[in-house]
Amino acid sequence: MPVTAPGEASDWFSYEAVGRGITRIWEPHVHPYFRSNIFRVRGHDVDLVIDAGMGLVPLGPVLNLPSTKPVLAVATHIHVDHVGGLSEFETRAGHRHEAALFAAMADEHTLAHLFRAQPEAVARSPTRAWSPQSVQVRPAPLARILDEGDSIETGDRSLRVLHLPGHSPGSIGLLDERSGDFFAGDAIYRGRLIDDLPGSDVQAYRKTMQRLLQIEFNRAYCGHGEPIDQNELRSIARAYLDSSS
Ligand SMILES: [Zn+2]
Ligand SMILES: [Zn+2]
Repeated sequence: MPVTAPGEASDWFSYEAVGRGITRIWEPHVHPYFRSNIFRVRGHDVDLVIDAGMGLVPLGPVLNLPSTKPVLAVATHIHVDHVGGLSEFETRAGHRHEAALFAAMADEHTLAHLFRAQPEAVARSPTRAWSPQSVQVRPAPLARILDEGDSIETGDRSLRVLHLPGHSPGSIGLLDERSGDFFAGDAIYRGRLIDDLPGSDVQAYRKTMQRLLQIEFNRAYCGHGEPIDQNELRSIARAYLDSSS
């Protein structure tokens, strides 16, 4: 993806084209715990931005979004590493179980205080005179409230909303059944799955893992780290089921 913004933003984000009009974007200088993925999905009629990173540097200018096409920003859940930049986008969507909370973006839901307390929260400052203490997620009320089974249409893709609670109450995934692209949020990713945050629910997470074992897809684009295939996703889900109770 061409980087269009001059100055600080241009080297804050890293990019990788991952196929079928999808770009993975991440913030390499952010502490690994908070280094999440942003996905830009090019659609025929609508472009999607799935999650919005930490919001430490404006994201919009580097996404190279066309001005003539609508953009829908979808939050997979309300944690700070996924919604920090959400307020930049005019049209936003998220799951019903967290929908009301996006209007306030209180620390108790975004967990922004955990980032402020994180030693070495960033490897280098995103802007001059920046400090982690300044991090506060801006309110981003939702225009569209998503439920299990809803479809997000881009003109050439249809993404089905899957409610995948456990990591957080309103965690969702988006599944394109035709292409097999699966955007998993923090429901699953490579590495230790976090189920002990305020709002986490181990029993709900176990049900989500059982559900994930049944889903057919080609490639999962996770909230953190590299994309994974179905075999790897299933082994992560089985390992979670074996080790939790
Ligand atoms: Zn999360
Ligand atoms: Zn996350």
